[in-house]
Amino acid sequence: MSPINIGIVGAGIGGLATAIALARAGATVTVLESAAELGEIGAGIQMTPNVSILLKRWGVDKEIGDNLVRFEELNMRRKDGTPVGHTKIATLEKTLNRPWWVVHRAHLHEGLVTVAERLGVKLIVDAAVTALEYAKNQSVTVTSRKGTFVFDFVVGADGINSVTRKSLFPDVAPEPPTTNCAYRAIVPYEQIRKDPVARELIEKKTMEVWMADNAYIITYPICAGTMFNLVLSHHRPEKLRATQHDVPIHELHNEYKDFDPRIKRVVDMIDSTSRWPLMVTGPLKSWSSPRKNVVLTGDAAHSMVNHMAQGAATAMEDGAFLGKCIAKVVEGKLRLDEAVDIYEKERMPKAFAKQQVSFLNGAIWHLPDGPAQQARDAVMAPELQGQYYVKSSNLYGDPKTVLDVYGYDAEQHADTALAALLNGGREPVDANTGIAKSLEDEFINWFQAEKAKL
Ligand SMILES: Cc1cc2nc3c(=O)[nH]c(=O)nc-3n(C[C@H](O)[C@H](O)[C@H](O)COP(=O)(O)OP(=O)(O)OC[C@H]3O[C@@H](n4cnc5c(N)ncnc54)[C@H](O)[C@@H]3O)c2cc1C
Repeated sequence: MSPINIGIVGAGIGGLATAIALARAGATVTVLESAAELGEIGAGIQMTPNVSILLKRWGVDKEIGDNLVRFEELNMRRKDGTPVGHTKIATLEKTLNRPWWVVHRAHLHEGLVTVAERLGVKLIVDAAVTALEYAKNQSVTVTSRKGTFVFDFVVGADGINSVTRKSLFPDVAPEPPTTNCAYRAIVPYEQIRKDPVARELIEKKTMEVWMADNAYIITYPICAGTMFNLVLSHHRPEKLRATQHDVPIHELHNEYKDFDPRIKRVVDMIDSTSRWPLMVTGPLKSWSSPRKNVVLTGDAAHSMVNHMAQGAATAMEDGAFLGKCIAKVVEGKLRLDEAVDIYEKERMPKAFAKQQVSFLNGAIWHLPDGPAQQARDAVMAPELQGQYYVKSSNLYGDPKTVLDVYGYDAEQHADTALAALLNGGREPVDANTGIAKSLEDEFINWFQAEKAKL
């Protein structure tokens, strides 16, 4: 066993997930967080099946309990309410054998903190990192508001304005690719229930997407099904680079004034909001320092537009993958530089693919009225009759996207990549069948698990 002392900059969702994965790998982990108190913004977040599997494996789901909400169906609509597409979530969850959760960020964050602390992770608040020295020695010296720390390895999980990234790559600047930005809001179910028109929207637990020309609204339940979460996409005359707080509420109401009365009445119940920019980082050429003793994860490395709900999910996947790599360092099977190399080689293309599919879904949901929008809707339409094909313009139900994005398991990916690395570059195969473990897991072990559930 080779002990390793790791510092993580940032206790956001990505930093905490990474802390859990590294502690599970046998590392000693300290997280330095700039905020005076641990927490998250007051908004919902999707925990899609690619990360619900991690929450389950790490026992975070048990901590969050009923506040991890499941929903029955996804309804794709035009802004006037006309149904366009449909995904039956139970079918997707059954095939993948994982839930699709929606949750308040604060509940998710609390669950991650509890599990991280139980694993011995040291969380230090009010410890804004101001400088990193990683070039002189193999160890890394981190200067923070709470003093100086020396670590064997540092993970930058400090978000879009990452000090860690600025230290490694001062020329990189996240940019909003377009004038697109988002409001977020939460309305109590109790209030919606009192409205004779809007209450139809909460009869079942559903995710609803209301698509419009250059705008959309996505809604889902959070807080044990007592709160209605909205993400409201729109465009501004100019690119936005920082969150705007206390936006005049008439701007939000006005933006969605000609939407279906059911959703419009919920929008009108929102009495305060902020506007978030959609900042994209990279793709970068590298995520690490020359000595491979500092590495980036999450938004610091690859922030993306929010249209596939994958930013935090991808940050958690990074942490999960890195944890498996560091486990091999702790076991004495890999050097740290080899572990970081394989993390970058395998995860960088995955993060880029997420950025791409997020752009793609944004383009699909924002299509202006016209031939492309009509084609999108026509191709989704059979879903309304329960018919599914092998490809859909509804990416939340499109079989390939579902398998690629939601069917991904970062820890399984790491196991496969590490097994291949430790086997001279080729994944080991079963001596009797000749089948590689990853393929066996994907099909033979999968259908056996399915049968066991019947
Ligand atoms: C409208 C909208 C909706 C979204 N919906 C989803 C969704 O449904 N699902 C999803 O997966 N993603 C979603 N995302 C994306 C997601 O919010 C981000 O990708 C995710 O929060 C990034 O996590 P992170 O841990 O990398 O960074 P952050 O969440 O930014 O955390 C960084 C942490 O580092 C701390 N920090 C910063 N600087 C320092 C420093 N110098 N020293 C110490 N600490 C520091 C910060 O205080 C913070 O706690 C959405 C984004 C938007 C804008």
